[in-house]
Parts: sequence; structure tokens; C-alpha cells
Amino acid sequence: MSSNYKSNVNNGVCFMKTTVDNVCIKGNSYLISTSNIVTDISNDLLELIGYSKDDIVDKDLCEVFSKLLRLHRKAFEQIDIKNNIECYIFTKSLEVREVLISLLQGQDVKSNIYTIVENPNSRLNDKLIFVENLFKENISGVAVFSVPDLILLKTNQKYLDFIDSPYYSMENSIGKAVREVILGYEESQVEVIWNTILETQKARYRKGLVTNKFAREITYWDSYITPIFDNGKMKYIFINKREVTERVVARQEREELEKVIQYQNEEKTNRASELNVANIELAFQNEEKINRASELNVANIELAFQNQEKENRASELNVANIELAYQNEEKENRAAELIVANIELAYQNEEKENREAELIVANKNLEVEISKHKKAEEEITKHEKAEVVIKKLNDELEKKNYELNKVIEMKDEFISLISHEFKTPLTVINSAIQAMEVICKKDLSDKAKGFLNKIKKNSNRQLKLVNNLLDITRLNAGHLKVNKKIFDIVVLSRSITESITIFAEQKNIKLSFSSTLGKKVIGIDDEKYERILLNLLSNAIKFTPVGKSITVKVFQKIFEGKCKVCIQVRDEGIGIPQDKQELIFERFGQVDNSLSRQAEGAGIGLHLVKMLVELLGGEITLESKERLGSTFTILLPIEKAKETPIEHMIKEISDNRLIQAMNIEFSDIYI
Ligand code: ADP
Repeated sequence: MSSNYKSNVNNGVCFMKTTVDNVCIKGNSYLISTSNIVTDISNDLLELIGYSKDDIVDKDLCEVFSKLLRLHRKAFEQIDIKNNIECYIFTKSLEVREVLISLLQGQDVKSNIYTIVENPNSRLNDKLIFVENLFKENISGVAVFSVPDLILLKTNQKYLDFIDSPYYSMENSIGKAVREVILGYEESQVEVIWNTILETQKARYRKGLVTNKFAREITYWDSYITPIFDNGKMKYIFINKREVTERVVARQEREELEKVIQYQNEEKTNRASELNVANIELAFQNEEKINRASELNVANIELAFQNQEKENRASELNVANIELAYQNEEKENRAAELIVANIELAYQNEEKENREAELIVANKNLEVEISKHKKAEEEITKHEKAEVVIKKLNDELEKKNYELNKVIEMKDEFISLISHEFKTPLTVINSAIQAMEVICKKDLSDKAKGFLNKIKKNSNRQLKLVNNLLDITRLNAGHLKVNKKIFDIVVLSRSITESITIFAEQKNIKLSFSSTLGKKVIGIDDEKYERILLNLLSNAIKFTPVGKSITVKVFQKIFEGKCKVCIQVRDEGIGIPQDKQELIFERFGQVDNSLSRQAEGAGIGLHLVKMLVELLGGEITLESKERLGSTFTILLPIEKAKETPIEHMIKEISDNRLIQAMNIEFSDIYI
């Protein structure tokens, strides 16, 4: 089919092959547009460009030419001006077609008819058949550009790999001018080269080019740019680029290496010459060494001799050392002894210091003592003087005492005499009363009996006083004798206590007796013991208020290492003030007069009791608290005496004497 066109064009014959809107179209390859929209396209043209009718019809005319047919913008603009232009379009598979585009005006003003006829024998593939393999192998980058517009007509991917984004794909680069696809082309080295080729029309070979002006990293490539002529006219430029980065880098590295090796070689040469010098120096030193060695030999012989000498000295030294060690040991022993001696000395010093301190203290004490002594001596002289005076006074006192004792004796004798004088009529009165009670009991009226009772009581009181006075004077004169008999002190005490029950009952006082001892037989003067106990009991009754109680207790106690019998009389009476507790044992000692008035006592009972207790070898103590009561305790020694038959003992206790004694002792208690 293409051969038909060829012949037609070549012959310059216009075939009226078809008419469109009565317009004669030359040839069968055309495209019609109305208002810049493609309305029709011939089948021949479709066959040429490889598109289908649907791809083209109803599309914008500009879009069809520039985007689908890739007609260069510059050419497209010229269609309207020139009516006929030679240019390149591209098929759907991006193969270039060299065509003649003519524009015919249709009947309608808005209609255009474009005939697009391929130039005969213009196919690039046919012309560059010898490099076709280069395109296919894709080992080196190859490309064909048009002259003079430098439009990329054919290339392979390897070439496009040298081109920056987005033009490294066929789709984006085919049909575009070189200045469009190579970024930074303007005023670059590349532009200079291209222009030079266009001017000189000579091939150019560039080796190891560095692409450092473009956006890509540095790469090295060899580039062959060859103009291709058609009918003696430069029509294409063929480029063959081969990346040699690896080779260049390897060469550069090799060069670097060579430089290093050369440097090392130089260094080696320098070292060698240095070594040479060093060797000469060494040889010299060796010679020196040999000289030294021979000197050393001599020195060694000398040294050996000296060593021998040394050894001799050493053995001498050894002996000396042993001697020294022995001396050292001796020294150490001495030192140890010295240390011990020092310690001893220190101890002795300490002792000495202590002694000294003690001595100082003793001296001071002595000084004090001496001064005291002096004072004492002074005192003694004073004393001696005083003693003379005292002796004088004592002599006088003794004289006075003697006189006083005489007076007291005389007084006691007088009291004794008076008492006796009192006692005789009293005894007569008492006997008369007793006789009256026994003999005239029935004849006496109650009134007379009352008077008689009063007389009896008062005579008894008188008798008590007289007896007491007599006993005291006898005791003082040492005439009162102790008459000890064997008694069970428990039985004796209980009998005496029980004998006064009547008085206690009449005053509503609870009287009780207790003993921790079942039986205790001792030698005792029962008469005097009776007087003692009755006296204490009569005081207890006298000074104990109605309703309270009196207790008599007998027990045993160890006192001053000896076993003693204790008789305790405890009352819940008015008690005795602390300051009066000694006074009441003195003759005429009373707590106060009101008491004596109340109880009509003379204040000599306890004095006599004390004297009697002491006569029996015992002692009496008092514990008392005001308003709480008093406790009199008698401690009697446990003594042996002449045996007395028990019956006799019991008879004696129940004797009238006790009743009589009790009556006398209790005569001053008003019931
Ligand atoms: P008097 O004959 O006055 O009783 P006493 O020598 O027996 O003499 O007693 C001396 C004084 O001791 C009494 O006047 C009394 O004040 C006091 N006295 C003795 N016994 C008791 C006692 N049990 N309770 C309180 N006072 C006592």
C-alpha cells in the first residue's frame, strides 16, 4: 500500500479518491475536524498511526496532534501558517513517522481537513538498520534526534536512564526536544557540544564524562555523537552512550593505588638508604662492642676476683652476723628484762606516788590532828582547871547528896512511920467492918450497910495508899524481899484477871484473857506479881470508857537473846500522850489533874509497879496512842525456884488474900 502512495506522490498526480463536503482530498490519509474537534479520520491514516477510530474521533484536535501523535508544538503551530509542513508524528507504539501535513479548508468555515502523508523511504528503522540491535540489546544507551530541532525520535531505556525524572520513560520523552528532556540543558556543556556538532557536522567522541551538573549523582560515561546524513544533508544525530563509571572509578582507584605504591616505594628507598647508614653505624657499634667485650672480659676476671673477695667478706660477715644476732638476742633479752624492770619501776613509782599522796593526806590529817591536839591540849589545861573546880563542886555535891540522902532517908523513915501509924487503925477498922459484915449482917439496916460499905471502900483506898507508900519506902530502903515460889504464870495471870470481872462487867467493859502458852511454870513472887497486874488492870478499867474492851495476853518472847514470859494488858481507853509516857512511871506522875480527880489516884501506882517489876528481874514498857488505847507489856525472866505443891499453889491463889488485895487495889474505882 505504501508503494502506491509513493508512486502517486512522486508522480505529482492528484487523485480524486474521495470527496468530503465537496472538497477534493489528495490521497487517502486524512483527518477532518470541525470547530477543533476531530469528526472523521481515514482508515489509511489510522493504519499509519496504529490508533483506532474511537481513539481519535470526537477528541480535541490539539490533543490528538500533540498528545496522541506527539506532533511537536512548534510544528503544530506552523500548520496554520504554512499549510504544508514536513514533520514527525508517532504511532501508538511510539514509532516515528516522517510525514507531510497539509491543511485544507472545508466548506464550512469551522471545518478543517488535514492530509497526513508519510514521506516515501523515510522510515528510520530502514535507515538505521545497522544499529537496530543496539536499541534492542539495551546495553549501551542509544538515541536518534532530528536535525535541526533535536527532537527525540527513537531511543532505548538505557539511554533514558541517563535522563532525569520524569523524562526517563519513553512515554514522557519521545517526540520531545532535547532541551525539554535534559534538565539544566540551557547553557550547559551539553548544549555547547550539541551546537558544535550542528555547526561542524562532525562526530564527537567524549570519554569519561562526568555528569555533575545534572540532578543525578556523579557518573562517568563515554559518549559517541554521530551526525547521520541523508542525500548529503545532516538529518539525524545518533548518540551512543556507555556508562563507564565502574571503569573510571576502578582506574581512579588504580591510580590512587599506584600513587600509594609509588609513595611507599619512595619511602622504601629512603628507609633503605637510612638502613644503610644504620648498618654502617651498627658495624661501627659492633666493633665497639667487641672492644667492650674484651674490656668486659678483663673486667669480669677482675669482678670474679672481687666476687671471691666478696664471698670471703660475706662469710666473714656471716660470722659477724651470727655474733651480732647473738648480741641482738642478748640485747632483746636485756630489753625485755628492762621492760619488766621498767614496768616494776612504773608500778613502784605509782605505788610511791600513791604513798606520797596518802602521805600528803596523812600529813594534812596529821597537821589537822596536831592543831586539834594543840587545841585539845589547850582544852585539857582548861579542863584540868575546870576539873579542879568540878572536883571541888563534886565534893560539895557529894556532901550535899549525902546530906540529901540522909534527909530522904529521914523522910522515908518518917513516911514509913506515918504509914505504919495509919495502917494500924486502918487494919483495925477493916477487921471491925469484916466482923460486922459477918456477925451483925442480919441486924443491920440497908442504910447502915450502905454506910458500912462506904467506910470499907474508903478505908481500903487509904490502905492502898498506905501500902503503896510503905512498899515504896521499903523498896527504896532495900527492905522489900522477893519471895519466889513455883507457879504456872498462865494460871496465875488468868486467876487475877478473872477476879476483876465483876468490875469490868459493872462498867460494861469486855474483859478477855488469852495465852499462846498452855502452861508455863516459873519461879515468881506471886504477891508482888498480883500487885503489879491488879494495878495495871485497875488503871485499864479506870481509863477505858464504857463499852470498850480490855485484853490480857500471856506469851513467850526471845528478848536480848533470852526467852522471857510476856504479860500484856491492852485497853481501848483514852491513851497516854507521847510526852507523858515516861512521866507516868515516876513517883506522883500523872497525865493531868483532872484525871486524878476523875479517878481519885495519887500517881504512885505505876511507879511502884515499875519498881516491883524490876525487883522481879523484869521490865515494863508502854505503847500508847491518844484516844486509841494503851498497851503495858511486862517482860519477866523464866526463873526456877523451890518446888511448891501445885495444890498449895492453887489454894493460895483462891485465897482471901487475892480478894482483899483486889478490894484494896480497886478501892478507888467508883462503880
Ligand atoms: P494513880 O494512882 O493516879 O492511878 P498511877 O501511877 O497508877 O497513879 O497512874 C499515873 C497516871 O497515869 C494516871 O493518873 C493516869 O493519868 C495515867 N494512866 C495510868 N494507866 C493508864 C491507862 N491504862 N490509861 C490511861 N492513862 C493511864
